[in-house]
Amino acid sequence: MFEHDVLIIGAGLAGMRAAVEAVNRGANAAVITKVHPVRSHSNAAQGGINAALTDRGDDWTDHALETVRGSDYLADQDAVEVMCSEAGAALIELEHMGVVFSRDEHGKLGTRRFGGQKAARTFFVGAITGQAILHVLYEQLIKANVRVYEEWFVTSLIVEDGVCRGAVTLDIRTGELHTIRAKAVINCAGGAGRVYEPSTNALICTGDGYALAYRAGAPLMDMEMVQYHPTTLASNGVLISEAARGEGGYLLNSKGDRFMLRYAPEYKELASRDVVSRSEQTEINEGRGIDGTVLLDVRHLGRKVVEEKLGYLQEVAHDFMGIDLAEQPIPVRPGMHYMMGGIKTDINGATSVPGLYAAGEVANVSVHGGNRLGANSLLDTVVFGRRSALAAIEYGKSAGAGSRNEDLLASEKKRIQALLDRPKGLRSASVRRELAETMHSHVAVFRDQQGMERAAAKVKELKSAYGKVAVDDKGKVFNTDLIFALELRNVIDTAEAICASALTRKESRGAHYRVDMKKRDDANWLKHILVRQSAADGDPKIDTAPVTITRWQPVERKY
Ligand SMILES: Cc1cc2nc3c(=O)[nH]c(=O)nc-3n(C[C@H](O)[C@H](O)[C@H](O)COP(=O)(O)OP(=O)(O)OC[C@H]3O[C@@H](n4cnc5c(N)ncnc54)[C@H](O)[C@@H]3O)c2cc1C
Repeated sequence: MFEHDVLIIGAGLAGMRAAVEAVNRGANAAVITKVHPVRSHSNAAQGGINAALTDRGDDWTDHALETVRGSDYLADQDAVEVMCSEAGAALIELEHMGVVFSRDEHGKLGTRRFGGQKAARTFFVGAITGQAILHVLYEQLIKANVRVYEEWFVTSLIVEDGVCRGAVTLDIRTGELHTIRAKAVINCAGGAGRVYEPSTNALICTGDGYALAYRAGAPLMDMEMVQYHPTTLASNGVLISEAARGEGGYLLNSKGDRFMLRYAPEYKELASRDVVSRSEQTEINEGRGIDGTVLLDVRHLGRKVVEEKLGYLQEVAHDFMGIDLAEQPIPVRPGMHYMMGGIKTDINGATSVPGLYAAGEVANVSVHGGNRLGANSLLDTVVFGRRSALAAIEYGKSAGAGSRNEDLLASEKKRIQALLDRPKGLRSASVRRELAETMHSHVAVFRDQQGMERAAAKVKELKSAYGKVAVDDKGKVFNTDLIFALELRNVIDTAEAICASALTRKESRGAHYRVDMKKRDDANWLKHILVRQSAADGDPKIDTAPVTITRWQPVERKY
């Protein structure tokens, strides 16, 4: 029998930060992760983590204002204030845990400037910031002796009488299903890049966390806000970090014109990501691209900067494109990168379902709104990972024990056995690809009613086709074929939530840019869109919620 005070789903930065806090405060906390902890997608974060440090002459309110402006005024400002005011302490804490941040020529923590921000407040470890932080947090996890269910897959959340009391899980190594009981569950299951094709995200980012919460009746918020990063490789979606532009890289069109001077005269390449992605796509659509790409040029920075500060990017350029960044510009295009939307939480990670908390990319505390600033996500994971652990422990003190009910375990066993018993049918890989390419065609940088309706119809069709998906591997041990099929259901549910929300928002704001409704409409749409899956018919149900404004009234966004 497995039983804990707090069960944390996910061993990325959010999950690990939550676990370290919970265990250090004496809670019986465990982490469950479908891959080895340091293979979580956080490992891929390159550019850095934002914090406004007072002794640098920076001010957290400037960081907060730029975050709110970057969000196109959709972020909840109370949450932004929490994140930005706690950033300095969170950063120094990571440093003290052992993260060796890169330093400047004076021996001080080095910074680079990231998009949508005037100040250089992005702290980094070369171009491997996520990896460096993730490994240090993993050391803390080992030191604190946290129980990790490694290579275990959560198939569903246990919600009894409206209260979350644990999860049904599959031990991937043995193929056995188990109930893990918990007084509180923190969902830190990361992003949903694989709902799109291509994406910068790892193959494991299949939206499991969104789908688990969605099916459990917790509303997802602002799911239409999907970030396209301006610089990804056309061939495979691999990210070329914003650090390239942060260090001074330019974007050029086929005529050699530095087009961002026209679109964002003040911030240029460092305007917010939605703005840069739209500008690039406009250049490409109007015939000034090169085979569907534009060029990112860092040659003028010199070989020393390229190799020392952008070393990992140089490796990616070399390995995938055979390009030496110090000698040649690299073709890039906007690519799916990040989900601003997620499980609606308050500033302590509480969702609408008692006992269920969420943090990290899968959550929407509402600090990113319509567009996330680069390097604000790593910050979001550590600040709200910690806070959600505190809240979950507090909740656990008065909560009942974990679930004693085995009904869900039995029905999950049946569902998975049926999948295994199906002699033959559709391959999950081809269903996912069809869905993900549809999303990329119609719910991307530019959108319109007809395209989004087409995507929603395709998602609906594939949702019913899911009943025909079969797995070839009938074995129990390490059945990755089965895992892909289970993940596919999550990809489909997440896509459904994105389409339903996108069709609801009748304006353009942040990453949601409709060519048929180009204006932001604060009078009608300065509000969050909530979507939950109806228990009755399994369809998405839409609601709205007000945006919290504390001190920054919405004005037109200019870069
Ligand atoms: C290439 C790339 C570069 C980036 N660079 C930056 C950057 O420089 N700065 C920045 O701020 N942000 C960056 N981001 C975004 C940022 O890295 C992520 O948003 C953040 O790391 C997400 O952390 P997380 O803890 O929420 O989730 P993740 O790190 O994705 O972890 C999710 C965890 O959940 C587990 N999990 C998922 N589903 C299940 C399941 N069904 N059962 C069990 N376990 C499950 C996984 O095993 C994993 O441990 C980048 C993202 C990418 C893709």
